[in-house]
Amino acid sequence: MRAQTYLKSILFIVATITLMANATAEDELSSKVEPRFTQAANRTFKAFNPEQEQTWQRPFFFMQLADTQYGMFSGNKGFDQEVALVEQAVKHINRLRPRFVIVCGDLTNATPNHARYQAQVSQFQQDFSNVDPEIPLVCVCGNHDIGNRPTRESIASYQQNFGDDYFSFWVGGVCNVVLNSSVLKDPSGAPEVLAAQQTWLDAQLQNAKAAKAKHILLFQHHPLFLSQEDEPDEYFNIPLVRRTPLLEQLKQADVRAMFAGHYHRNAYGRAGAMEMITTGPVGRPLGKDPSGFRIVIVDETKIQHQYWAMDNVPEKIELPESSVAP
Ligand SMILES: [Zn+2]
Repeated sequence: MRAQTYLKSILFIVATITLMANATAEDELSSKVEPRFTQAANRTFKAFNPEQEQTWQRPFFFMQLADTQYGMFSGNKGFDQEVALVEQAVKHINRLRPRFVIVCGDLTNATPNHARYQAQVSQFQQDFSNVDPEIPLVCVCGNHDIGNRPTRESIASYQQNFGDDYFSFWVGGVCNVVLNSSVLKDPSGAPEVLAAQQTWLDAQLQNAKAAKAKHILLFQHHPLFLSQEDEPDEYFNIPLVRRTPLLEQLKQADVRAMFAGHYHRNAYGRAGAMEMITTGPVGRPLGKDPSGFRIVIVDETKIQHQYWAMDNVPEKIELPESSVAP
């Protein structure tokens, strides 16, 4: 009898410890996705107050990063080089203190169905958690983040880790629109996502115009084109069949510039007044441009931008005098 009670107590203790261990594992799982990485929700970005931010305040600058692509240097065997480069980038971010940072896709090298995907996502989030919490970090999905032929499932997997795949947000009078360009590149796996994004984009561009945005800026992973708006289709641009009508719409809406990555080197072109700015990688370069990022200065009537190599970043960013009386 006594032995039975003793056994029951032991079983009770074991059960309690197991429950506690499970609770800890669940807590860890829920805290793994930090709120800062899922700020893109309900097609907007929570860190920015839409009421306040629709009004022009003063010149500001932001930093555009692309292709951190954890795992690319080593073919998914590790990510030491990407970690070191991101550590440098984060130091620059915390020193320069931009209004926000945007990472234009291919956050990881592995796609969601790959065995190394979660490890790369965790490392990305761990490293970028070192960005000062006061500096919003906006993530954009690339073809490695949702696959070359994205599906509803691959997009859902991305959303769990990084929030919405397309959304818009205002910053100091500027309307910023983020698109899922992988469905523009190949919509065959999720045609309904491209259709929904297009309907949504129509409304965003109309709203931006009605709200008298100082600038409309677009961000996506794939460049619409590298240097000529009518250049032939290739791996790094969006097929003409979808590029031409979209460009027409963006010109009509007076979009000031589109920022992209994917090319792992810099490229530049114009479509009417719209600049198509392709930015080199934080991670592995594929051309002569070294790892780095772009700094974009936004003034009331114009924007200026420059790519900086990671080991040649200015100490401080000089902003133009505000042209608006205080
Ligand atoms: Zn890419």
